[in-house]
Amino acid sequence: MPSYTANTKDMQFVLHEVLKISEAGIPGYEEMDRDFTDAVLDAAAKVSTEVLAPLNVVGDTEGCVLENGIVRTPKGFDTAFEAMKDGGWTALDCDPDFGGQGMPYLLNCAVGEMFVSANMAFNMYQGLTHGAYSAIHAHGTDEQKAKYLPKMVSCEWTGTMNLTEPHCGTDLGMMRTKAEPQADGSYKVTGQKIFISAGDHDLAENIIHLVLAKAPGGGEGTKGVSLFIVPKFLVNEDGSLGARNAVSVGKIEEKMGIHGNSTCVMNYDGATGWLLGDLHKGMRAMFTMMNEARLGVGLQGYAVAEAAYQNALAYAKDRLQGRAVTGTENPNGPADPLIVHPDIRRSLMDQKSFLEGARAFTFWGASLIDRAHKSGDDAAEGLISLMTPVIKGFLTDKGFETTVLAQQVYGGHGYIEEWGMSQFARDARITMIYEGANGVQALDLVGRKLAQDGGKHVMAFFEMIKAECKAHDADERMKPFTDALKGASKQLQSSAMFFMQSGMKNPNAALSGSYDFMHLMGHVCLGLMWTRMAAAAHAALDAGASDKAFYEGKIATGRYYMARQLPACAMHLARIESGADPVMALSVDQF
Ligand SMILES: Cc1cc2nc3c(=O)[nH]c(=O)nc-3n(C[C@H](O)[C@H](O)[C@H](O)COP(=O)(O)OP(=O)(O)OC[C@H]3O[C@@H](n4cnc5c(N)ncnc54)[C@H](O)[C@@H]3O)c2cc1C
Repeated sequence: MPSYTANTKDMQFVLHEVLKISEAGIPGYEEMDRDFTDAVLDAAAKVSTEVLAPLNVVGDTEGCVLENGIVRTPKGFDTAFEAMKDGGWTALDCDPDFGGQGMPYLLNCAVGEMFVSANMAFNMYQGLTHGAYSAIHAHGTDEQKAKYLPKMVSCEWTGTMNLTEPHCGTDLGMMRTKAEPQADGSYKVTGQKIFISAGDHDLAENIIHLVLAKAPGGGEGTKGVSLFIVPKFLVNEDGSLGARNAVSVGKIEEKMGIHGNSTCVMNYDGATGWLLGDLHKGMRAMFTMMNEARLGVGLQGYAVAEAAYQNALAYAKDRLQGRAVTGTENPNGPADPLIVHPDIRRSLMDQKSFLEGARAFTFWGASLIDRAHKSGDDAAEGLISLMTPVIKGFLTDKGFETTVLAQQVYGGHGYIEEWGMSQFARDARITMIYEGANGVQALDLVGRKLAQDGGKHVMAFFEMIKAECKAHDADERMKPFTDALKGASKQLQSSAMFFMQSGMKNPNAALSGSYDFMHLMGHVCLGLMWTRMAAAAHAALDAGASDKAFYEGKIATGRYYMARQLPACAMHLARIESGADPVMALSVDQF
C-alpha cells in the first residue's frame, strides 16, 4: 500500500521564508506566526496520515454504489467524515458568523494539499461543499445564509455544483434545465445534470444542490442562466428537515479514477428551488467562485503528484537493479538501488522541482486571493484572475505528467494495482478535465485574461519579474536564476506581442498557440517562484541556518528547474510564432 507523509517543513518554508506571511500586511495574517501555523499543519498532517491515507485504496477498490436510490460510500468514509467535522477541518476559513474559524484561505489551501495527497476522492465531499458555501455566502440573502450556511460549514449538510448536461459542458449556453417561477416565490426546476461530484451519498443528512437553469425571459446563451438552491430535503422554517424534494440519482458514473467520490447523474423533476443571486445572472454568480475553485483543482493536480513522488522516491532507494556506471555503490547487494542511475535522478528531479515550485505558486495564488478579499486590493484581484487559468491548466497538466513519471520509476510494478501508483495516475487525470478542461483554460487566458483591463495585469506581472531580478542584481549566486527568468520572461512577452499583432488579423493564430502560451506562462511563474525560493534559501544560509542540507538542496533543486525546465519556453515560443498555418492546414476531410 502506498504511504504518505505531509511535507509540513516545505510548507512552513514557503509560508514564512518566501511569502513572509506574518509581515505581509494582509488582515488576519498577523496572527499566523510560525508556532501557530506549525500547530495547525501538524494537526492536519496527523489526520491526513492516520485517518485519510489508509482509506485511499479502500475508496478506489470499493467505489460508491447506488442501492435503492441511495448512494453508499466506501467502508470507513463515514467515520473519517465525522473525524473531519469534529476536528473543525471543514470550517477552517469559513465565516465565524456562521460557525467558521475565519482563518486565511491560504492556510486552508496548505491543509487542503495534505488532505488531497492523502485521499483526493474523499476530500471532494467537503471541497464541493466549500464551493457551494462560498456561492451562498457571496450571493445569498440573509435568510438563505442563516438557513444553509451553519450546517454547511459544519458539513452536517454538504453541497454540490450542477452545471453540466449531456449535450453541454463547456458551452453552457445550450443548457436545457428549466426553472419555472411559482406563486410563492420558489421555482420548479426540471432537467438532467450529469457528472455531478458528490451528487448523492450517505455522509450527510441533507445535500444542498446549486443548480444552473434557465428561467423565462433570460434570452439565449449563458446570459439567460440563473442559479438555484435545490435541497435534497426541503428545510422547514425552524431549520428541521421536511419533505424529500423531487431530485433523484439516475446512476453513478463508472469512471477511470476517484472511485471513492460519487459522480452522479442527477434528475430534477419539478424540484423546488430558490433563486440564488440575481435572476439571469447565474453565470456571474458562478464566476465569483471560479478563482478559488480553479486554484483548488490546480492544487489537486500537484497534491496527488506529491503523494506519487514520495512513493517513487522510496522505491528508487529500495529497488535494486543494475550497477552505477561510475562504480558499484552497494557492494554488499546483488545490485545498486535505482536512485544511482542518472535517468532515474532526472525523473526524480523533474518531479521534485515541479512539486516544490507548484506549492509555492499555489500558496502565492492563495495569498493573492486573501489580499483581494480581505484588503479589497484590485491589483491582487487582477493578478489572481490572470493567474487562475495558469494555476489550473499548467499545474494539472504537469501534475499528471509528474504522477506518470513517478509511476514509471516503478517499471511494471507501477502499472499493476498492487503498489497504488496506478490509482494516483487514474485519480490525477480528471484534474485536467473538470472545472473547465485545460484547453478552455488556455482559451480563457489568451482570449480574455491577457487583454483584461487593457492588459494592465500582465504588464504588472512583467514588472514584478523585472523588479525581482533587479533585487538580486548584486548577488552573483542568483545569476543562474535571474538570467534564466529574464530570458523566459522575454519569450513570454514576445508571445504576447505575437498574439497582439497576428491575433487581430487572424484569431486562429492566437488560439493555435494558446495552449503553448499557458505552459510558457506556467514555466515563467515557476521560474519566478524558484528565484524567490533560492533567494530565501541563500538568506537562511547567510544567517547561519543549522539545516544546511535543506537550504542547499532547495537551491540545487531550483537550479535544476531553471536549467532543465525553463528551456521549454523557447520551444513554446517557436510553436506560438509558427501561427495558425501548421495547425489549421488540413481540411476536416483530410484527417
Ligand atoms: C469525474 C467528473 C466529475 C465532474 N464533476 C462535475 C461537477 O461536480 N459539476 C459539474 O457541473 N460538472 C462536473 N463535471 C463535468 C466537467 O466539468 C466537464 O466534463 C468539463 O467541463 C468538460 O465538458 P464536456 O465533458 O461536456 O466536454 P466538451 O465541452 O464537449 O469539450 C470536449 C473537448 O473540447 C474542448 N473544447 C470545447 N470547447 C472548446 C472551444 N471553444 N475551443 C477549444 N476547445 C474546446 C475541451 O477543452 C475538451 O477537451 C465532472 C466531470 C467528471 C468526468
